[in-house]
Amino acid sequence: MTNLLPNFLAGRLQTGSGPGTPLFDPVLGTELARVSSAGHDLAEGFAFAREQGGSALRAMGYAQRAEMLNAIVQVLQANRDSYYAIATANSGTTTKDSAVDIDGGIFTLGYYAKQGAALGDARLLLDGERIRMAKDPLFQTQHVMSPTRGVALFINAFNFPSWGLWEKAAPALLSGVPVIIKPATATAWLTQRMVMDVIDAKILPPGALSVICGSSAGLMDQLQAFDVVSFTGSAETARIIRSHPAVAERSVRCNIEADSLNSALLDPAASADSESFQLLVNEVAREMTVKSGQKCTAIRRVFVPRALYDAAAQAIGAKLAKISVGNPRVETVRMGALVSREQFDSVQAGIAQLRSEAEVLHDGSAVALVDADPAVAACVAPTLLGCREPSKARVLHQVEVFGPVATLMAYDSAEEAYALIRRGEGSLVTSLYSADPVFIAQATQELASSHGRVHAVSPDIAALHSGHGNVMPMSLHGGPGRAGGGEELGGLRALNFYHRRSAVQASTVALDQLATQAARLVY
Ligand code: NAP
Repeated sequence: MTNLLPNFLAGRLQTGSGPGTPLFDPVLGTELARVSSAGHDLAEGFAFAREQGGSALRAMGYAQRAEMLNAIVQVLQANRDSYYAIATANSGTTTKDSAVDIDGGIFTLGYYAKQGAALGDARLLLDGERIRMAKDPLFQTQHVMSPTRGVALFINAFNFPSWGLWEKAAPALLSGVPVIIKPATATAWLTQRMVMDVIDAKILPPGALSVICGSSAGLMDQLQAFDVVSFTGSAETARIIRSHPAVAERSVRCNIEADSLNSALLDPAASADSESFQLLVNEVAREMTVKSGQKCTAIRRVFVPRALYDAAAQAIGAKLAKISVGNPRVETVRMGALVSREQFDSVQAGIAQLRSEAEVLHDGSAVALVDADPAVAACVAPTLLGCREPSKARVLHQVEVFGPVATLMAYDSAEEAYALIRRGEGSLVTSLYSADPVFIAQATQELASSHGRVHAVSPDIAALHSGHGNVMPMSLHGGPGRAGGGEELGGLRALNFYHRRSAVQASTVALDQLATQAARLVY
């Protein structure tokens, strides 16, 4: 019998039928486990979560639910070593890269536990101040946010099996909304194990957390008017989710995180020996190689003044040359594998596509892999491409290659750089490298509307900043346009997705009574 990972649905362990889909070690090529969602009664599972999980969670106040988040943190901390072992085996990541996912998820849970504690025993949130509606001040309106009476379905991507779950589950559970997680199949094991550990610890009421590994077939069909769905993954699947009748006809609230051609911009006034230049070089090399470039926020396009194009190519290339690639179990290895051989093929095809418009500035593939068979391992060496005339390029501004790949681009004026960056048609993040606060303010005004986040790196915060690609819970994550149009995190802003806003029009006396059960939502 194969090692079929059980799912947890309708308050009980359930094993899918059939042989299941295998999960592999992307370095060794060996099979690790299997997943299947075939044969489950999804309607029963969703109803159980919605009715049992939802009502139990809503019966608690925010602070009580925040305490549960803290308890989840304790359980995950206690089992941390096993998560690292799973990540190495199933995601092919080095310890440092696994930390971004595992510890990043735990940190985010802890952050929301703290934020939630401050909301006390309240059952709903007050949004803004009361506004008088008549000459007599007795009749007023107060906007309130109440937890939605549905489930939160998460359909997640392969690159963050831990963080991708907890950064969404933390605000959902804090809001009093039960969670059903469907991890991406390739790396589902870590998500499944974490959920099982939390279930075993009996922290959450029955129905508050469910996991379905395997095919997504039928999941969207279960969604009803007050449910919400969060999707992270490809633009193609995003289209399917958006056009599903649950969203298109039943108004299920939908959050999408998809492709993103994130950029880095060096100040036009920078010189090759400036600190800003060095900060850009460091960040680009880091962003290209952390998690083998499999970060939705990773830098894909690097804009430098034309005069610095060659110097930047050389400096970034020199950094990339130091990255050893191969089996993440070997201590000297700096970059492990992509998550699967399919992703390996997709990245190779993507590089070929970008090369139709770009020159190769650094190709790490000439160096042998460390303790890994290139015919088996999904390891890709870092590749820096370059384009001296990016305004004539099309593919470079459209195709996101989900691996250790970025393209350096020359620009002639700040205005041209802004226009080129906006050709990404909406991205998660852009980073600015400058010692000049006036330039940072100007570039922010130009670029903020097409980005979920603007990350400005100046020499004064060189040792403090959180990194271009690191998603921090206090800042918004998401982006307009191509990036999907979604919004996550941003501190307590994340709670908006799991609450419904209503205007209550009533007498001051009634509003006073309502306020006794509410906390004020302050961002
Ligand atoms: P994907 O193929 O779109 O899959 C994402 C999730 O959707 C997985 O859980 C997948 O399940 C599920 N899914 C697939 N088809 C579905 C359908 N018809 N209905 C409902 N759910 C469905 O994306 P991926 O394989 O994770 O990543 C592919 C690309 O997505 C990457 O190359 C990258 O460009 C992009 N990506 C973007 C971000 C971001 O945050 N912006 C993050 C990661 C990836 P299965 O795994 O079982 O197929």
